[in-house]
Amino acid sequence: MISEKLKQISIEAERDLAEQFAELEKICFENTERILHYFKENRVSDTMFAGTTGYGYDDIGRDALDKVYADVFGAESAFVRHTIPNGTTALSIGLFGLLRPNDVMLSVTNAPYDTLCEVIGINGANGDGSLADFGVQYDQVDFIEDKIDYEGIEKKLNEYGERVKVVFIQRSKGYLNRPTLTIDEIGKICDFVHARSKAYVVVDNCYGEFCESREPCHVGADMIIGSLIKNPGGGIAESGGYIAGTKRAVELASYRLTSVGTGCEVGASLGQNRNLFKGFFLAPHVVMQAKKTAHFASYVYEKLGFEVFPKYNEFRSDIIQTIKFGYPEGLIKFCQGIQSASPVDSYVTPMPWAMPGYQDEVIMAAGAFTQGSSIELSADGPIRPPYTAFFQGSLTYESGKIAILTSAQLLLGENNA
Ligand SMILES: *Cc1c(COP(=O)(O)O)cnc(C)c1O
Repeated sequence: MISEKLKQISIEAERDLAEQFAELEKICFENTERILHYFKENRVSDTMFAGTTGYGYDDIGRDALDKVYADVFGAESAFVRHTIPNGTTALSIGLFGLLRPNDVMLSVTNAPYDTLCEVIGINGANGDGSLADFGVQYDQVDFIEDKIDYEGIEKKLNEYGERVKVVFIQRSKGYLNRPTLTIDEIGKICDFVHARSKAYVVVDNCYGEFCESREPCHVGADMIIGSLIKNPGGGIAESGGYIAGTKRAVELASYRLTSVGTGCEVGASLGQNRNLFKGFFLAPHVVMQAKKTAHFASYVYEKLGFEVFPKYNEFRSDIIQTIKFGYPEGLIKFCQGIQSASPVDSYVTPMPWAMPGYQDEVIMAAGAFTQGSSIELSADGPIRPPYTAFFQGSLTYESGKIAILTSAQLLLGENNA
């Protein structure tokens, strides 16, 4: 049962969030308009959904989907494949496609996502076949007080000169304590780099798609990369990844996806085209549902006295919400509440566990239709101070709202609420 106090906060939340919700609806409308326009221009039709087997030559659905992704994302070219298992693999394909021995990859947004550090070989060559093993050098420029360090970027570009082949941007804060970049800021970095270097600007776009009415390629990025079990899959895609960008950059990545010379000409869609088109069509709306849920969570938990980031009235360029609990039980109860209000595995009680590769125990709530899908309602956090929960997704705002209220109720206890 949701207490009267929480019901009251919920009513106030929706009243105070009216302006933010209206802004989200505007973004969703613009993105939907663009999607419909390019579905029409590319003559998306029922005959494209059948799919191919084997080599997958002349798969008109796959080719049209690639074109639709490129057009919607403001890119010259793109490929979308259900066979890419996750975002890390898509990023790996893109980076190995562009980088050659003795090149430098320069990240300008602190260290990249954890799993990508292995791909790069951030701790040096170890024989596993990381970029470092192939003689690709990695360097990074950190944020200074949450701002991009343009001076630092300039210094590194001068230092390495033409060896810098990739300038890397992670749009979303991911699980780091840093701001998420807006499209305007990404555009500024692209202009800055392109004025000084021939490097490809590559953007890890995970969690960012459709959060604004433009994407990084609209403002000059040479390559963007993402996962279909996040935003662009719309909760419908059951697996996959995409790469979009300039013709040459995407061509080079496609040679890593399959083989040099073959590129995007092969790849059986095995009946997945319908789901990928449908998911992309729904994606702006689903992203809006997730963002409404994040705003609502931010409002409710701030009212309950917790530190939240971003604040309920702040604009977001990704779907991640963090809530700082300050004590372990808070984080644990929050995740348990989210799980108990999920559509799948609601009867399961998540517990902290020692996940391989992590220093501290981690707790995760994931009651999703698609394993690991984080456009669906999901929450997690390491059991260490300040006991912060990372929360994202929700296919519908209504179910997200119920989950937030359920978690708050569990946290406060029956009496105390
Ligand atoms: C999710 C994510 C990735 C890729 O992670 P996978 O679990 O391999 O899909 C990369 N970068 C960011 C910022 C992400 O959020």
